[in-house]
Amino acid sequence: MIEVCNLRKSFGANEILKGINLTVKKGEKVVIIGPSGSGKSTFLRCLNFLEVPTSGTVKIDGHYFVKPNEKLNEKHIAALRTEIGMVFQRFNLFPTMTAIENVMAAQIKIRKKSKEAARKTAEKYLKKVGLSERMHYYPSQLSGGQQQRVAIARALAMEPKAMLFDEATSALDPELVGEVLNVIRELADEGMTMVLVTHEMKFAKEVADRIIFMDGGVIVEEGHPQEFFSSPKEERTKAFIKKVE
Ligand code: ATP
Ligand code: MG
Repeated sequence: MIEVCNLRKSFGANEILKGINLTVKKGEKVVIIGPSGSGKSTFLRCLNFLEVPTSGTVKIDGHYFVKPNEKLNEKHIAALRTEIGMVFQRFNLFPTMTAIENVMAAQIKIRKKSKEAARKTAEKYLKKVGLSERMHYYPSQLSGGQQQRVAIARALAMEPKAMLFDEATSALDPELVGEVLNVIRELADEGMTMVLVTHEMKFAKEVADRIIFMDGGVIVEEGHPQEFFSSPKEERTKAFIKKVE
């Protein structure tokens, strides 16, 4: 489903990703953990073309999503981006639009759906995240957890092939984390292909088919959650696990 080959990304002289290789199968849930600054967000952003990799390739469903030196216009990039839904730590909803308008917007603009079709899809996904009652509220009238669920519905409404979550619960008050994790868990159970960056180790163990440990722009170690946490092989992994558990 997702094939990443020798992906590198530099900002100026600073090489942040130093050759990442990763294959994610259809329906697989991969959780990426690692210290702050190790390049986790940069990696997810490269998967979604929010950053253009310096070199390397990304294939989605066998098709090149990112080719080196490829010149793409904004429209093309926006269309590619919808193939993979992304949810961020900050919800990035349009403040002047209601929940349902937020979920409709990209469907109309990028998917070229009619307003009515977009509304129907938006209602379906807002219901799925448990927000049917609040679809006409503005972001400012919603809790952080509810706003994040709108953001998830917005990504799902594009009917993406996979979903990326970058610390989707880190900005939330502790009592709101559960409702968002429940929505993500449900998606996982339904077989959505996912790559998640999270600091919620308990959740990571529960949902992941595979844990990837990144440090200094490389994948240091990966494994099945149980063996990864119980018998890490690399020193850097051991030190990290000790700190987070
Ligand atoms: P955290 O756990 O704190 O979110 P992370 O693993 O997600 O960290 P990244 O956000 O990917 O780390 O950042 C990795 C490095 O890349 C950092 O040193 C950061 O300063 C640098 N970096 C990220 N984006 C840019 C940018 N647009 N320009 C320059 N440097 C950047
Ligand atoms: Mg990050």
